Amino acid sequence: METQIEQLVTVTINGKEIKAPPSLSTIQALWYAGYPRVQSVGCLEGVCGSCRIMVRRAESTEVTMALGCQTLLEEGMEVNFLVFPTPTHHTYNLAEIPNSWEVQTEFHRVFPEAVNCRVCNGCNKSCPKEIQVKEGVALASKGRFQEAGELFVECVMCNFCMTACPEYIAPNHVGLFSRRVTAYFHTRPSNLINRLEVMRKGELKVEIDQD
Ligand code: SF4
Ligand code: SF4
Repeated sequence: METQIEQLVTVTINGKEIKAPPSLSTIQALWYAGYPRVQSVGCLEGVCGSCRIMVRRAESTEVTMALGCQTLLEEGMEVNFLVFPTPTHHTYNLAEIPNSWEVQTEFHRVFPEAVNCRVCNGCNKSCPKEIQVKEGVALASKGRFQEAGELFVECVMCNFCMTACPEYIAPNHVGLFSRRVTAYFHTRPSNLINRLEVMRKGELKVEIDQD
């Protein structure tokens, strides 16, 4: 029986030149070459979001963000694993939100910077799951948590968007908040809540017909 030998490709990972089969992921390539990488390596299934990498492909000047376990080797590819702290200052307790009428107020207490979104698209560009991140932030800011949460269903909490955001919005946590409150409360229609919020602040303008 004829055995097919896979052609090796040459890639650079974390500054190390490695020759490995193109059927391997960037993580497998490190192991193949004898580098015992375990930091930032998680499920190996594209779910946990731990293996964040920056990738530059041969003959391209563009650097893209990706997950190491989901990225197969290509000739001339340069890869760097990213390890960065991922703190979030956004803390809340769903049990302390008295009812669904208060969800929007709580959102703006926890994420006051969400309304400052510059629509710079940094989050969308950095997302390896191609999630419409900034659109989700905009929806959540308007109290449309169910729709916002649906956009983040594929989110793996890799924190690329949080790192990319110049306004420290932590869009992934906005998405998580949206999904949690949607599940925890059966949130009432956002247009009704928005209307009541305007009334609560005394900002409702009423035009009276004098005729
Ligand atoms: S939304 Fe943010 S945390 Fe979620 S997968 Fe995309 S970049 Fe990663
Ligand atoms: S990176 Fe931040 S500021 Fe820029 S579009 Fe995304 S959420 Fe808005």
